[in-house]
Amino acid sequence: MSDSISRVVVITGGSRGIGRSIALKFSEENPKIVIIHYDEDESDSEKTLNELSLRGLKAVSYRIDVSFFDAMDKLFGNIISEFGRIDVLINNAGIIRDKLLMLLSEEDWDRVLRVNLQGVFNCTKAAIRSMIRQKKGHIVNISSVVGQIGNIGQANYCASKAGIMGFTKSIAREVAGRGINVNAVAPGFIDTGMTAALPEKVREKFRQQIPKGRFGRPEDIAEAVYWLCSDAAGYITGQIIHVNGGLYM
Ligand code: NAP
Repeated sequence: MSDSISRVVVITGGSRGIGRSIALKFSEENPKIVIIHYDEDESDSEKTLNELSLRGLKAVSYRIDVSFFDAMDKLFGNIISEFGRIDVLINNAGIIRDKLLMLLSEEDWDRVLRVNLQGVFNCTKAAIRSMIRQKKGHIVNISSVVGQIGNIGQANYCASKAGIMGFTKSIAREVAGRGINVNAVAPGFIDTGMTAALPEKVREKFRQQIPKGRFGRPEDIAEAVYWLCSDAAGYITGQIIHVNGGLYM
């Protein structure tokens, strides 16, 4: 990519799973990468940083909860001071706390909405000032197929992921004239830590519903995200790109 040398790329939830794969995909263009994660066990983020540094990249990781507005505002201020700009923001951090509605506590509702949806608001608001100044930027929010079609036992998660879709379209309209593209990628069933814990019976039931006959790989999502942040996708904004092996059409 001609204008992508040393872009500053911030990836929330970049320590493992889909976020790590996105970081490794971006590493092909030699950017500066900032990873945000939350677990106090730093082994996953260290593994990602090691892989990036083996590729000769400047990458840093911050352990911080995306759901706290003031903390994210301060962090992004520091990132802009240190790196001078933010070119790409990938809002990927997400959690599940699955329960049927009758068993779903207010705490489980709040926590999932705060991390998955408020986290996207916090990071976008904090990063966009740099993009507006630059008159250029890309934001990709990671939603989910279940934000579109719903899922039993995931009312909190589905609401957060549907919220991301509405947020994406609204912000895309607000900043399209300022050279900033805002899109969402909605993965189907992807093989990561988030889905590994499901019983094999449940996994098999999902697999049978996927026309491509297999679960997605984190790399399948990373390819779509990277392309959306390229000049080739410059006329695409406010879209929800489904990457799901045909699970939802
Ligand atoms: P994952 O393997 O569980 O990784 C989640 C990432 O989010 C980790 O890096 C984690 O950091 C970070 N994170 C969690 N809570 C955070 C917080 N409060 N503040 C900052 N970072 C936090 O999940 P994944 O499967 O890669 O999913 C990535 C995204 O894709 C999520 O938004 C998920 O909802 C979405 N998605 C996944 C699937 C799927 O089938 N896997 C399908 C559709 C959508 P730590 O490691 O430090 O906790």
